[in-house]
Amino acid sequence: MKITFAFKNTKNSDDKYSYIKSVIMKRKEFFQKGLATSALLGSSAWISAADEVPQNDQNKKTPWGYDVNYDEVRIERDMPGQPHKGKVLMAIQPHSDDIPLHAGGLVAKLLDEGYEGYLCSVSDDARGEGDYKQNRIDNQNIADFYGMKGSFELLMPHHQLGSIGIQDLIQRVIFLFRAFKIDTIICIDPWGHYEENPDHYITGRAVEAARWTAGNLDYNEHFAAGIGPYAPNERYYYSRANQTDNLIVDISNYIDKKVGVNLLNIAKGPFAGGDKGVKLRERLAKEGKRLAILDGDDRTANFNYYKTFSFSGDKRLGEKYGLQYAEGFHYMSGTPWVLGPTATERVSPQVEEYIKNNSLSL
Ligand SMILES: [Zn+2]
Repeated sequence: MKITFAFKNTKNSDDKYSYIKSVIMKRKEFFQKGLATSALLGSSAWISAADEVPQNDQNKKTPWGYDVNYDEVRIERDMPGQPHKGKVLMAIQPHSDDIPLHAGGLVAKLLDEGYEGYLCSVSDDARGEGDYKQNRIDNQNIADFYGMKGSFELLMPHHQLGSIGIQDLIQRVIFLFRAFKIDTIICIDPWGHYEENPDHYITGRAVEAARWTAGNLDYNEHFAAGIGPYAPNERYYYSRANQTDNLIVDISNYIDKKVGVNLLNIAKGPFAGGDKGVKLRERLAKEGKRLAILDGDDRTANFNYYKTFSFSGDKRLGEKYGLQYAEGFHYMSGTPWVLGPTATERVSPQVEEYIKNNSLSL
């Protein structure tokens, strides 16, 4: 039996750039022009210097979309009008607190801007006792809070991903990318530096490998079942220490949502328990003091406590770029695999681009 397949090409991420009110900034130019005047003009110097640089200079990308010019940083701001409608994102985290902590603002922003979303949690969060039901509940609550369509649990051994065959994880993720036609990934940067946690870097490497393979012609049993190939095109990869950031996302309007989603993480992370505001209020009362941020009901006290004390990193990063709060990412787009109308056909992005610009009617 001869089976033929019709494939939809991954959406062209370059369209995104026409939506993004992003700013390309050469650090060199900032230091030459911006820094000298920033003390006088504040953050406006940064923006005006940045506006002089043309957006989305494709010539500086390698053919496959890898941005190797770390001397450039763009700023992604709010994009009104739901420009991402029709696109699907997957936020993949080794542990139940990773996405809320590192990309809690970005996920809220992108979903607000039209994306459909899925959460995927790789480890079971267990530390040798119990089955960590609360982490499963937290993940589902986080997905629901964002209005995502689903939350997947891969339940791999916590802090022991070194013991798995990484190919198992890659294959599971390939299936998810293909089956749910994932256009955009949010995950830890497989090329980030100073990552200590093995679950983090193993997840990052597996996800990037799955991204690359999902659009390729491997695993043809998937095709027989009508699944894929389908390659995620856009990647927002966060890293532990931000060295690979080439995109700063303005989350100033999403910081409250980021605080809210982290408060849902009852089982894990710096917010576990979520009652430090109430506890501090009790302590101060004994000392005959109060703080205005801790007034109100318990949730308000906790919310304000964490908003004030737990997002200094986002605040610092934002201030560096003239924003209130920001998250940093190693952003990439493009795919080496550009599929033609059938499974056996691949086309060159360069040739397709040339045809788009130069083809004539017969
Ligand atoms: Zn983690």
